[in-house]
Amino acid sequence: MLQPGLMMDRPLLVSAILEHAAAQFGAAQIVSRETHGPVFRYTYAECAARARRLANALHGLGLATGSAVGSIAWNNHRHLEAYYAVSGSGMVMHTINPRLHPEQLIYVINHADDRVLLFDATFAPLIAGIAALCPGVEAWICLSDSAHMPEVRGIGNLLCYEELLSPSSEQFEWPEFDERTAAALCYTSGTTGDPKGSLYSHRSLVLNAITICMPGILGLSQREVLLPIVPMFHVNAWCSPYAALIAGAKLVLPGPRLDGAGLHDMMETESVTVSAGVPTVWFGLVQYLEQQQIKLSSVRVIISGGSAMPYALAATLSDRYGIEVRHGWGMTETTAVATLNALDAEQMKLPAEERHAIVTKQGRSVFGVDIKVVDDRGDTLPRDGKSQGELMVRGHWIVSGYFKCATSPLSAGWFPTGDIASIDAHGVMQIKDRVKDLIKTGGEWVSSIDLENVAVAHPAVAFAAVIGVKHPKWQERPLLFIVRKQGRTLQREEIVEFLSTRVARLCVPDEVIFLDSLPVGGTGKVQKAVLREQYGDVFK
Ligand code: AMP
Repeated sequence: MLQPGLMMDRPLLVSAILEHAAAQFGAAQIVSRETHGPVFRYTYAECAARARRLANALHGLGLATGSAVGSIAWNNHRHLEAYYAVSGSGMVMHTINPRLHPEQLIYVINHADDRVLLFDATFAPLIAGIAALCPGVEAWICLSDSAHMPEVRGIGNLLCYEELLSPSSEQFEWPEFDERTAAALCYTSGTTGDPKGSLYSHRSLVLNAITICMPGILGLSQREVLLPIVPMFHVNAWCSPYAALIAGAKLVLPGPRLDGAGLHDMMETESVTVSAGVPTVWFGLVQYLEQQQIKLSSVRVIISGGSAMPYALAATLSDRYGIEVRHGWGMTETTAVATLNALDAEQMKLPAEERHAIVTKQGRSVFGVDIKVVDDRGDTLPRDGKSQGELMVRGHWIVSGYFKCATSPLSAGWFPTGDIASIDAHGVMQIKDRVKDLIKTGGEWVSSIDLENVAVAHPAVAFAAVIGVKHPKWQERPLLFIVRKQGRTLQREEIVEFLSTRVARLCVPDEVIFLDSLPVGGTGKVQKAVLREQYGDVFK
C-alpha cells in the first residue's frame, strides 16, 4: 500500500517569492530604466513594500481575488511590482503585447475581463485609441509619477500610479490559496484567428522559476546580475523576474531602451553577468559593438530563445566577445523555457566550429518537461537525430487547455507544438521549422531556418528571412529577404553564389528581395505573415 509522506503541504505561491526576497536579500538591488529616460534604483525590500501598497490600492479600487489586471508595459520596476501585487493577492496578471493589432488588443482585454489596465506612458496614444472599446476596464493606470503623466484624451478614469500608491499602506497580508490557482495570463501572438490565452498557475510559475535558477540554465545566485531583455509583456519575460528574486540576483530592467547602445550602456554600468533575449536583440547589440569597436566586460552568459540561434551569431558572440551562448526553446504555452542547450564538459573541449554548431540546436528538455516527436499518425519517431516530426511536450508548466476554450488542444496528454523537430540519441532536440513555415518545393521539404542561418553568415548580411511562396511549377519556392549591414553592398548574384556553395541546389532561392528592415513583432520575431501578405504573389 502506498503511504503518504509526512511533509508539510505548503502552497507554491508567487507572493512567497517576494517575501523571501525581501527577508533574505532585502538589500539586493533592482535597477530600472524609467520610460522617460533616467535610471531608478532601489532594493528588494523597497520593491516588496511598494508591491504591498499596490495590492492595497487595487483592493481599494474594488478588485478582489480572481479579478484580472492587464498591463501594457516595458521591463521596469513598476511592472515588476505589479507582477507580485496582482498575482500575490490572488488576482490574474494579464500581460499584453503592445504590438498586437489594435483589434486584437481590444479582443484580449475584453476576453480576459480586465478590470484595471496598467500602461507605460509610451503607450498612451494606443490606450486613447482603444479605451472606448474596452467597457469592462474601470481604471486605466499610467505607470508614472505625476510629473511625467502623458496626456490621454477621452479617458475619464485615468489614474497616476504613484498618486495611487502614495496614500496606501505597506502592510498587506498576502492571502494563502491553492497553488493551482491562476496567477498570470498571456495570449499567443496568433497570426491566424483570435489569440488564445495561456493561463499560468502559481505552481507552474514558481516551479519554472526555481528550475531556471539552476547553474546549467540561467545560473542565478546573489553573485549574478541579470538583465532580462525578453519583454515582461510576453511569457513573463521567461519567468526571469521571479527567478532573480528567488536567487537574490541583482535585477537590471532596461525599460524601453532596447537598442545596442542602450543595452551596452546598461550592461557595462551595472556589471551585468547574465542576459536573456531573442536573436534580434543580439544582432542589434553585436552590430553596435562592431561599429563602435568595443567589447562587453562583464557579460558571461546569454540565454537566447524565441527563434533559432544562427551559427554565425553564436560564433561571433563566443569567439569575438567571449560570451557563452545558451540556446533555449519554449512558447507561450510552455510558460517559459522547456528545452535548453548548454554545452557539457565533453562538448566544451571540442573545436570552436563544432561547439557553435551544437549551440544552434535547441537542446535537451529541462527537468519537469518531457518531449517527443511524432509522425502524421501520432506514432513516436526514433531519437536518431534524423527523423523529423511534430514536437510534442508535456510537463508541470505546459498548458492543459486555453483560457475560456472548451476544446482541449492536447493529444493523449501531450501538447502538439506546431514545430517540426528531430531529437538525437542524447536527447538533444533541433527545431527544423514551424509546420506552417516549412517550404515544399518540387516534392522536397526545405527548412526556412536552415536557409536563414546560412544567409546571415555572409559578412554583408545583417538580417535574413525566408518564406515559401506559391510557384506554378515547383508548388512553392523559397523567397529570401536580406537586410544589408550598414555601409555594405551586396548584390543578388553574390548572395545566391554564397548560398549555392553551402546548401542543396533545390534550396537556393531564385529571388532575393533587399529591404531596409524586416517586419518585427513585439516579441522580436520576424513577422513572416506580413512578408507573405506583401510578397506571396511574386511568382504568379
Ligand atoms: P511564442 O508563443 O510567440 O513565444 O512562439 C513560440 C514559437 O517560437 C515556437 O513554437 C517556435 O516556433 C518558436 N521558437 C521559440 N524558441 C525557438 C528557438 N530557440 N528556435 C526556433 N524557434 C523557436
